[in-house]
Amino acid sequence: MDQTSNLAKKLQNKFLQKILDNIPENLKLEQKEIIGTIIYKSPDVEAEKYNISRCLFFDKYNDIIIEFTTKLEENFSHCNLSSFYHNMETVEIKDKVEDLTTLIKKILFQDVYAFYKIEKNIIQILQKKSQKKLYAILFHELLHLSTRKKIGNIQYSGFYQYNKKTNSKIGKYLNEGYTEDLNQKYFIKNDRNTYKQAKNFARAIERIVGVKKMQELYFDSDLYGLIEELEKYCRKEAIFNLINKIDYYCEQYYMHGYNNNKIYEEILSMIANIHRNKLLIDLSEKKIDEEEYKKKKLLYCDDLENGRLNSDNIEVEEYQEYYLITDKEAHESHFYMKNPLEYKTNDLKISKK
Ligand SMILES: [Zn+2]
Repeated sequence: MDQTSNLAKKLQNKFLQKILDNIPENLKLEQKEIIGTIIYKSPDVEAEKYNISRCLFFDKYNDIIIEFTTKLEENFSHCNLSSFYHNMETVEIKDKVEDLTTLIKKILFQDVYAFYKIEKNIIQILQKKSQKKLYAILFHELLHLSTRKKIGNIQYSGFYQYNKKTNSKIGKYLNEGYTEDLNQKYFIKNDRNTYKQAKNFARAIERIVGVKKMQELYFDSDLYGLIEELEKYCRKEAIFNLINKIDYYCEQYYMHGYNNNKIYEEILSMIANIHRNKLLIDLSEKKIDEEEYKKKKLLYCDDLENGRLNSDNIEVEEYQEYYLITDKEAHESHFYMKNPLEYKTNDLKISKK
C-alpha cells in the first residue's frame, strides 16, 4: 500500500472508530450491583470475520500480526472473535512517545515494555526489545485488543471493566493474569515469569469454570458472565471480594514490589473454597463419582490451599497414611498427609511430655 492510500485508510478508520465506539450513549446495559459497584453486562459487537491482510499497514509489525491472527483463529474458533476484527480496523501501534502521560509511564515503570490504551485502541510500545521479546509483548497487547469494547463511558477489556464517569475499576489483574496465561499457552508457547501470581489465580479460577467456558467469557469481555458462572457455587459478594483482593494483592506486588503473603494465601484459600463447593455439587448431581471427587478435592482444593498449583498432567498414588502426587509436567513429586491435623496433635502430645 502506498503512503497516500495508507493515510487515507487510517483517516477513514479513525472516523469509523468514532462512529462504532460512540453510538450507544443511551444504550441500557444490563447490570448487577455488588457492594455499591456496578458490573455491566457485555454487549455484542458486530464485526464480520475477514482476511486480516486488508488491515496490514504496520510495516515491521505485520508478521507478528499475521502470526497472532493465525494462532487466534486456530485455537479460539469456539469463541466470539468480533472484537478482534472490529478493533483491528482502527488500531494504531506506536513505538514513539508522543504525550506526557506516556513519557511519565516510560520513566516510572522501566520494566513495562508496552501497554494498550483501551479508550483510543492504541498499542504503545515503550522499550525496544529483542525480536523474540517483541513477539511475546505484542501478542499480549493484541489479546487485550481482541477483548476490548467501549460503550459510552464503559470500557471493557477481557475481565476488566472501567467506568470513566465514576472512575470505578474492577478485574484488572484477573484480566492480566488470564491474558498472559493464554499468551504463554497458545501464542509464545513458553513459560515466562510475567504476571506469575496473577496467572496462578486466573488458572485456578479457570479450573472451576472450565477451559472452554472461561475462554468464551474472556473473548466476550464478560466479567458479568464470569460472576454469574461462579455464583452457582458461592454468593456474588464473595466473588466480588475475591476479584478485588486479587487486584489489591497484585497492585502491591507489581506496582510497589511488595509481596503480601498473607493475602496471597487468602486468595488461594478463597478459590479453593469455591472449587470445593463446585465439587460437592458435582458429586451430589452425580457428574463425578466418589473417587474423582476425592482426587480433585485433594489436587485442586487442599493442595491449592497449601500454595501448590498442580498441572493437568498429574498422577496420584494412595498409601495408608498419605498420597504421593506426581506432577508429570513440572517433573515434581510431593506427599500429602491424609490426616495432617491428627499428625500434628500427636506431635504436640509427645513434646509436652
Ligand atoms: Zn496487559
